[in-house]
Amino acid sequence: MAHDYISHDDLRKWQPSHIVNTLINEVDRNAAETVKVYIGREPVPEDSLPLNREDYEAMQFLPLGTQVGFEPSKLGKLWNALAKLALHIGIPTSKDVTVNQYGDVEKIACKVREALAEIREVSEGTLAFVGIGGQEVSFECSCGAKNKRRLELLNDGQTVNCIRPNCNESYKYEQADMSFVRRVFEVVCSCCNYSNSIPQNIIDKLPTNRAYLLICSGCGENNYLSWELNVVQRTMPLTTD
Ligand SMILES: [Zn+2]
Ligand SMILES: [Zn+2]
Repeated sequence: MAHDYISHDDLRKWQPSHIVNTLINEVDRNAAETVKVYIGREPVPEDSLPLNREDYEAMQFLPLGTQVGFEPSKLGKLWNALAKLALHIGIPTSKDVTVNQYGDVEKIACKVREALAEIREVSEGTLAFVGIGGQEVSFECSCGAKNKRRLELLNDGQTVNCIRPNCNESYKYEQADMSFVRRVFEVVCSCCNYSNSIPQNIIDKLPTNRAYLLICSGCGENNYLSWELNVVQRTMPLTTD
């Protein structure tokens, strides 16, 4: 549901609790909160707007449904505990170490019951939401995809990757004028000096042992880009591995 508001790339990791926390921080503060939704029995006549608190209190509301909240960190711990007890096998550090092929049935059953109780509680919910209310900002990616974000959850300078899978475009959010600036790497063609803008993500993801073929938009000539290791003069403290 949240993919209108966040790309797969911006979720970054895959662990469930991390994903939920990212959604809370970047898409909807209430993503893991208990929320009850009601609807007014009668439609509000258009000429009666704006309504005040008393008007709302005088109305009759019918329940639509409930999203049951949960603690991402608690579910994250259960997830890790189950993986440790029942999924992974230890790798011995030497041949003298015995490897247990099977987990402890009692411990596993106990953890499974604990997890089921949590999951059952969440499954009682009848609705799930992404982003109720709050101002929305949007921009159109050069690929044509419409990207939306909640204004209150955007930080100055934040990188937003396009929501379309396989789109390489990303944008930098500039708070001052609420704009999204395309992140590009400029490559001046070795043949005609035309400046080609290529998506920054292509450079960031370029493996060190590969070359990227750029066909110049100015003259059609092939240009190749690759990483190069340089010897640097040590003029300031460097961290080394
Ligand atoms: Zn795109
Ligand atoms: Zn060229």
